[in-house]
Amino acid sequence: MFERKLTHLLRCFKILPNFKTWPVSFLKKSIQGFEQLIYPLKCLKCGTYIDPKLVRPHTMEACFCDICMKDGFFPIETPYCIKCGLKLHQNFSENHVCEACIKKPLKVEKVRAVVEYKGIIKDAIPLFKYSSKLAAAKVFELLLFQAFINHYKQMSVDLIIPIPLYKTKLRERGFNQAFLMVRNFIKLYEQHFGQNPLWEIDTNSLIRIKKTEPQTGFDIEQRKNNLKKAFQVVDKNSIKTKNIVLIDDVFTTGATCNEAALELLKNGANRVDALVLART
Ligand SMILES: [Zn+2]
Ligand SMILES: [Zn+2]
Repeated sequence: MFERKLTHLLRCFKILPNFKTWPVSFLKKSIQGFEQLIYPLKCLKCGTYIDPKLVRPHTMEACFCDICMKDGFFPIETPYCIKCGLKLHQNFSENHVCEACIKKPLKVEKVRAVVEYKGIIKDAIPLFKYSSKLAAAKVFELLLFQAFINHYKQMSVDLIIPIPLYKTKLRERGFNQAFLMVRNFIKLYEQHFGQNPLWEIDTNSLIRIKKTEPQTGFDIEQRKNNLKKAFQVVDKNSIKTKNIVLIDDVFTTGATCNEAALELLKNGANRVDALVLART
């Protein structure tokens, strides 16, 4: 009785336009407001406050302010090399294979990258990896998932393998950035397609057995040597005859993905592709 009177009163004052939706939306807004009070949106690079009303959640704009975003965000669209995913000049055809891939093909069958490694992503990835700005993980995961369903819906994928870290590095960092970018893939797939995926995320079959030096500053040969025999398949049966997509954050010369692919193929995998967030 009291509730009806209150509803009527509020309607008279046009405070409550739709009673049916009121409790949920009110609650939602209150929780959001409360969250923003405790966890205000701040630019991950410069710390400037971001108005949540002006941005969609889990987007680059919700992580980086307008000024930092001015550095640019460069999604890789066609034309790109159909093998290694390298962004090509507009004059190239959509089926072009770049010179490097003709001269020395990678062990990875095809590489696809979300964005060019320049502009804001060049700051965003190290902030995520080395300063634990984990708010970026969700954004990267959504970008990667979108790329995954764009590039892989027509072909069969059996396993998604995030490039593993060496055990001491994993302990120091506390997380594997490649795994964080796919950990909700199954949930996202179910939301998107309304069914379970046929593939699995495999974090056990491939391990890193060599503590490699950071690749920064190394040339192609040094990178290759640094990564030599860095990976080991520990469960042959689970990768045998499988089509695998490796996941990594940055693809520079491809030495990491290539070495992992080599080990997987040597142990019986049928095909190895790579999907990465950024590519130089
Ligand atoms: Zn900023
Ligand atoms: Zn290429």
